[in-house]
Amino acid sequence: MNDTPPSYLSDLVGVFGYPVAENPTIVMQEAAFRAKGLNWRYLNIEVRPEQLADAVAGLRAFNMRGINLTIPHKIAIIPLLDALSPEAELMGAVNTVVVEHGKLVGNNTDGKGFVQSLREDAGMDPAGKRVVFLGAGGAARAMAVEMALAGASHITIANRTPERGLSLVELLNEKTPTQAEFEHWQGDYSVPDGADILANATSIGLFPDVEAIPAIDLNSISPELLVCDVIPNPPHTAFLQAAAAHGARTLDGLGMLVGQGAIAFRMWTGVDAPTDVMREALEEVFGG
Ligand code: NDP
Repeated sequence: MNDTPPSYLSDLVGVFGYPVAENPTIVMQEAAFRAKGLNWRYLNIEVRPEQLADAVAGLRAFNMRGINLTIPHKIAIIPLLDALSPEAELMGAVNTVVVEHGKLVGNNTDGKGFVQSLREDAGMDPAGKRVVFLGAGGAARAMAVEMALAGASHITIANRTPERGLSLVELLNEKTPTQAEFEHWQGDYSVPDGADILANATSIGLFPDVEAIPAIDLNSISPELLVCDVIPNPPHTAFLQAAAAHGARTLDGLGMLVGQGAIAFRMWTGVDAPTDVMREALEEVFGG
């Protein structure tokens, strides 16, 4: 007979967001827990902006192991935490909290997920690369900072609204070793000669507007360029299809989504994430 009493207690993680009902991260994290035989649960938790502090108190009270943050909480969560990773501090945004010895530590895995996907899915090392980002929002900020820290030699930020683009360029130039410049994105953007990577980090192409493509001169896309998209659903976006038709290699946003989730999984559980299982689970949801 087994002397150890059974435990019906699960380790809890999840995501705070508003809205959050359609956030699909639960599908890949739960699939990963099952694949690794972990008694962990991931919950989508709807938290209104004015109730974020109460939700964080609840997280502590429930002895949760961590939480993801999505719209509109990635910046608002910061004063409620006990510590920040250096990258999250640099970006000023948190998407993953890990509870370490009762302390809430804020991290940001979005940009790390992109770098991981670039390395593992596209087989490309960021070191020494010249990179162009379309967009300067939260995703672009996380991606550009991580690419800079991973050794990208030059980063161009092309954005419609100058203030946001200029503030990201200032951050990159002042706080990271890369050289960054801003381009005001008006009309069709022409990819500069010598660029190695072009990444759409805008919300253009997001479901249901899946036919939308960033305004760029497609003739400036060369076969030497790796073209990436942050939009994960559907993964083969109209933008990536157009880039492939001009001879470029492509990297989809599903790899980044899996990558950022895999890094959070590892931070929470201490176990290496089964990325294939996670990607398959999301592909099933996205019909990709
Ligand atoms: P933000 O709202 O913070 O930023 C949006 C960016 O897109 C801004 O730079 C904005 O420019 C630009 N933009 C939007 N519409 C247009 C347009 N019509 N023309 C030119 N520029 C435009 O969003 P996030 O950065 O948080 O998210 C961006 C996308 O990335 C979302 O679709 C999100 O789903 C996706 N994402 C994917 C992840 C993944 O793992 N695959 C992870 C995180 C995000 P402006 O400043 O001028 O308004």
